[in-house]
Amino acid sequence: MNIIELAKIKQEALDEHIPIIMDDTLEIIDKILIQKKPNHILEIGTAVGYSAICFSKYLNENGTIDTIERDAKRAEDARKNIKRAEVENKINIIEGDAVEILPTLNKKYDVVFIDAAKGKYPFFLEQAIRMISDEGIILADNILYKGYVLSDYNKHKQRTAVRNLREYIKEVTENENMETEILEVGDGLAISKMKIRKGEMK
Ligand code: SAH
Ligand code: MG
Repeated sequence: MNIIELAKIKQEALDEHIPIIMDDTLEIIDKILIQKKPNHILEIGTAVGYSAICFSKYLNENGTIDTIERDAKRAEDARKNIKRAEVENKINIIEGDAVEILPTLNKKYDVVFIDAAKGKYPFFLEQAIRMISDEGIILADNILYKGYVLSDYNKHKQRTAVRNLREYIKEVTENENMETEILEVGDGLAISKMKIRKGEMK
């Protein structure tokens, strides 16, 4: 991994107002990944590849990241960036709408990172649960959406997003097969650890 290029990629993304993962959120995920040493990570929402490049450092030997991006320009920039960072052998960018791509995937993932259209979080969760490995971890960024999710906010155009983020939180906290924490770092991070082996799921 070329960390000088990674620093440049981060600065370029910030300059272009691309909503890359925030430093304090990344710090928490780093700790989880160091412990977990995942073989396979699934990311929903690549943008320009910044978070995927950061996560690739913690993969097990021969581990891979599949990451989905629907915006063609961003997917192209992400492809360039993973080459610059010298991690193109570890990251597989899948261009297209995750709503269509996810049902076609059939791998087991040790970690799923949800960081795309907020209105689709419940669907992304359903797909993540289908593919998560035993004792895997499902992470969701922006889960508190500028604080709207925990306030009595229910106005104008973000309403659908807020309703779906609340639905996501309800589902992960009520699911008996997972242990969930919601952290107020960055824009909010949900961490859901699968408690039991999938074969034993009720
Ligand atoms: N994970 C990145 C940031 C992702 S920003 C990082 O931290 O570096 C969210 C991205 O998700 C945007 O680039 C947007 O185009 C993409 N996106 C939103 N909805 C999507 C969908 N339904 N399918 C695929 N990509 C989506
Ligand atoms: Mg995000």
